[in-house]
Amino acid sequence: MRFVYSDKYQLDIGVHVFPTDKYRLVRDRLVADGLARPEDIVAPPEPNVDDIRLVHTREYVDDMLNLRWTARTVRSELPLTWEIILGYLIHAAGTIAACRLGLEDGVAMHLGGGFHHAFADHGEGFCYVNDVAVAVRKLQAEGRIARAAVIDCDLHQGNGTARIFQADPAVFTFSIHQEHLYPIKEKSDLDIGLADETGDDIYVEHLQAAVPKILAEHKPELVIYVAGADPFKDDQLGALRLTKRGLAMRDRVVIEGCHRRGIPVVPVLAGGYALNTADTVDIHTNTARECLRVLGQLPAPAAEPESCSQPQPAAEPDPPRA
Ligand SMILES: [Zn+2]
Repeated sequence: MRFVYSDKYQLDIGVHVFPTDKYRLVRDRLVADGLARPEDIVAPPEPNVDDIRLVHTREYVDDMLNLRWTARTVRSELPLTWEIILGYLIHAAGTIAACRLGLEDGVAMHLGGGFHHAFADHGEGFCYVNDVAVAVRKLQAEGRIARAAVIDCDLHQGNGTARIFQADPAVFTFSIHQEHLYPIKEKSDLDIGLADETGDDIYVEHLQAAVPKILAEHKPELVIYVAGADPFKDDQLGALRLTKRGLAMRDRVVIEGCHRRGIPVVPVLAGGYALNTADTVDIHTNTARECLRVLGQLPAPAAEPESCSQPQPAAEPDPPRA
């Protein structure tokens, strides 16, 4: 299985709740655990600003490229430096590359991306460039796909993605998220807003009901799976309180659900603000494990070291209930 990653994803954003070192840590962890060989991990191509323009407005792109603090850039909650903007452009190139690989192989994973709060005309919530939307538009422009779905299981609603595709029946947007939390909600094609303290069982039940229906009714040719780690119980920003086991079950519902139907699926990392970054790394690594499992490429369990920084009831997730 192929993964997309760049060292340039680690950005200097000062003291911040967003751990941009997680990308490198996940990459290193996959190799250390024998889940990926270095040659399985490919770098994104050079970013192309014209790709960003497929989604983002001329004024907003100009503000980013010229590092201008305006109403369009100020809501990012990030500093505005060239290194950071370039990093976001590379993330978008990475999501495009991962989607191309996903179409070839059935499953590919981007060890980056998922910046679903960026709108066409402004950045928001740690997101400058909506890599998910850019990748869909780029693959459509290349004629590789016509229909796509975004299955967004980050803690936060994918508000930017929802708005960008609101009037486009070819792209189905689904978001399952904590309702009483940032952002102000946009209208996805399907939203499931969950109460605080929802926990594993109710979360997975909702997902098991929604995912097969989306896939059967919309018939996407590609699913981008926004696999945020922030529904986790020790996340600093959220209160959905999923365990690592619950999050692994979530991954299984989405990834296996797509793969079983022959629909290419590409997870992207999105959020993750656990008190201990090692937990965020565990959760993203488990998403990769689920990809490898559906492809029949997961190394034998003996090769998997105990990965949790906190004891968990089971190292391997149970299969989701039918
Ligand atoms: Zn999030």
